[in-house]
Amino acid sequence: MPLPHDRILLARIGEISLKGLNRGDFEGKLAANLQRRLKSLGDLRVVRSQSILRIEPSDPDHFDFEEAIRRTTFVFGIVSVNPARSFGGGMPEILAQSVDHMAGVLADGRPRTFKVESRRSDKRFPLESPAISRDVGAALLQAYPDQLTVDVKHPDVTLRVEVRDTHLIFDRTVRGHRGLPVGTAGKALLLLSGGIDSPVAGYMMASRGLELECVHFQSMPFTSERALEKVMDLAGKLSLYTGRLQVHVVPFAGIQTMLRDRIPEDMLTLLTRRAMMRVAERIARQRGCKALVTGESLGQVASQTLHALAVTDAVVDMPVFRPLIGLDKDATIEVARRIDTFETSIQPYEDCCTVFVAKHPKTRPHRSDCDALEKDLPLAGLIEEALLGLVTRKVALEP
Ligand code: ATP
Ligand code: MG
Repeated sequence: MPLPHDRILLARIGEISLKGLNRGDFEGKLAANLQRRLKSLGDLRVVRSQSILRIEPSDPDHFDFEEAIRRTTFVFGIVSVNPARSFGGGMPEILAQSVDHMAGVLADGRPRTFKVESRRSDKRFPLESPAISRDVGAALLQAYPDQLTVDVKHPDVTLRVEVRDTHLIFDRTVRGHRGLPVGTAGKALLLLSGGIDSPVAGYMMASRGLELECVHFQSMPFTSERALEKVMDLAGKLSLYTGRLQVHVVPFAGIQTMLRDRIPEDMLTLLTRRAMMRVAERIARQRGCKALVTGESLGQVASQTLHALAVTDAVVDMPVFRPLIGLDKDATIEVARRIDTFETSIQPYEDCCTVFVAKHPKTRPHRSDCDALEKDLPLAGLIEEALLGLVTRKVALEP
């Protein structure tokens, strides 16, 4: 029978603790995001205690701590999570709880090296941190002489003791995705394709506190239903970080076909992208999104040269965020693997842009040339038609 203590999770908040006057808002949002993500696991409280949030389940015996740890690490704003025991009392209680906790760590009978690290936030506590560590270390060596040896440089186990309003003991740290709580930076519209880049771009901007909605341009009948499902799968993976996502699916074949029939091939990609941006901006304004987000990266393809990006931006009157602009493909793939979108992205389904590709797109287009070509096109009408055909789908892989 272990000593009585509360089993809780400690969620460490990073950058937010620097947010000065806004700090209250950020922490409130973070606590709300955490609550929403965890509530289906059972009744719990999220309580602020200095620079940590305490997640306290009402019924710890029937609470899936591992699942709660996993979900907590997905919430932007969380730097790390520790499953901890929390209890009151003085030094005798700290020693007894440390010995008791270590019994669990050593349950497999294997010998281990260890060290103790202590922090005393409650300065009224009679012992200073080094003395707490020393006494706990001595108690552990005495309790497990055959299994434990001290190694302060590379220990197998680091037992951490924090002396606060309640005392905390833990030995496990699980890293989170850091960033700022989703919803603290306003809302933006992500142009989500089926590729590797745009889900990563969405992840990166959501990690700066942006709430996202998505737009996907779909080229049925030139692309298959399965290509759309792949995009929805990607949105699902992204929703683990962003919360429930709305994906606005826009029928785009009409605009693409018209452009293909009427525009010189070397300008096709560029004018297609300008049309996408125009439609995206319209949806963004309807939905209260104050910026667009794309997965473009400087020089990756002809439509992503400085000239091409400038000409693309010229048709919209809101910020366009391109968080991958300075990353090379390997760096982007690394993130895609880490956030588990890569395997979905490389499934071989046609994307709308691979259907209408030019062999030699212009890399130094002029804005005036684009404007001149567009002047006589029935773009406005086709854009209205595309917007009328918009279908919104909601995606959430988890609560
Ligand atoms: P990826 O490697 O992800 O395929 P990208 O190389 O697709 O990226 P482009 O096809 O030029 O590059 O598209 C650039 C950006 O435009 C994408 O990152 C995405 O933000 C947006 N985009 C492209 N196609 C679509 C689409 N069908 N629907 C919505 N957005 C799109
Ligand atoms: Mg693509």
